[in-house]
Amino acid sequence: MITLISNIKELIQVEDSPKKMVSGKEMKILPTIKNAFLLIENDIIKDFGNMKDFNNISVDNVVDASGRTVLPTWCDSHTHIVYAGNREQEFIDRINGLSYEEIANNGGGILNSAKKLQTTSEEDLYIQSAKRIEEIMQLGTGAVEIKSGYGLTKDAELKMLRVIKKLNSNYPITIKATFLGAHALPIEFKNNKSDYLDYVINEILPIVAKENLAEFIDIFCETGYFSVEDTEQLLKAGEKFGLIPKIHVNQFTAIGGVQIGVKYNALSVDHLEEMRAKDIDVLKNSKTMPVALPSCSYFLGIPYTPARKIIDTGLPLALATDYNPGSTPSGNMNFVVSTACIKMRLTPEEAINATTINGAYAMGLEKTHGSICRGKKANFILTKKIPSYGFIPYSFGNHQIDQVFIEGLKI
Ligand SMILES: [Zn+2]
Repeated sequence: MITLISNIKELIQVEDSPKKMVSGKEMKILPTIKNAFLLIENDIIKDFGNMKDFNNISVDNVVDASGRTVLPTWCDSHTHIVYAGNREQEFIDRINGLSYEEIANNGGGILNSAKKLQTTSEEDLYIQSAKRIEEIMQLGTGAVEIKSGYGLTKDAELKMLRVIKKLNSNYPITIKATFLGAHALPIEFKNNKSDYLDYVINEILPIVAKENLAEFIDIFCETGYFSVEDTEQLLKAGEKFGLIPKIHVNQFTAIGGVQIGVKYNALSVDHLEEMRAKDIDVLKNSKTMPVALPSCSYFLGIPYTPARKIIDTGLPLALATDYNPGSTPSGNMNFVVSTACIKMRLTPEEAINATTINGAYAMGLEKTHGSICRGKKANFILTKKIPSYGFIPYSFGNHQIDQVFIEGLKI
């Protein structure tokens, strides 16, 4: 089936051949075509260009996009969408003065989510998570990474990963899975971190790899959680099974997590709220994408990733939601784009590059997602009538989406 989107006011993020990523000054450039057409065949982008160059071929469907903008769907490269229940009570506790760390020390935080998840059936976990997938697709996300890490037992971690796999087969959105067994230390291992790491590495990881349940491996490398040495041990083990690192580093403290990520060819290092000059330097000439999560900083009231410094050094940057019950109960990439502009001083062009092409790279999807390019997936957002794409971050807290197409299907 061939569909023509005609009379597009402006077609955003077009490219003739897929770029790997956009870095430094290039991030200020957002290639667009005014008065454009977009032609899709089934789930693939067939052609695009200026309306005056459109050769009248017979099509099955025409969508008149007069006055409206078309851009690729968002690529959200860091989420924890599969979880049970919520942590609304902790939100109230924080308003009343407790810190994230104090809440975690009182048995809240990740352990609270793990307790709920362990007693939730796979079917129920699927239903709760599917609602969030539907919600983010409506908000314009066409590809998403989802982590395990709220199981913290073999059965519960595998349950999470099986739910992720099922979501991927039941929805048109592309989903990549990450094994995050080393997210927190379960109470039974409270004084025995190395035993827990051995359990993750020897008991869970081999099954994850054998059943092909994850492509990436992650760890919460942070003071009070897992050290740089723990991280190295896990990444080494993951490497043996062909799992690529995408790791949580430098959220509250800078302890060398970025360096270890680069050493093990991490596809991305995520969070980066606390960055020393040497943490930025080590990313230069690496294949590792720095990923910032501004909604998390917003919700927790912690510093924002120094995105301006990262980009001005010549590095690329991707932006993701971190959608999770504790620190970011929101999967709205439109808000991420706005917050990056407002709080990190990114230009709209930089923020859109960071949430499309660079987000796709951070999930290994740069050949199929993240831009309007012939042969890529027909994933795009048709906006309401807006004056320009800058209106998307400007109208923060709202969204300007009229319709979302994922793999050629209207959502
Ligand atoms: Zn996270």
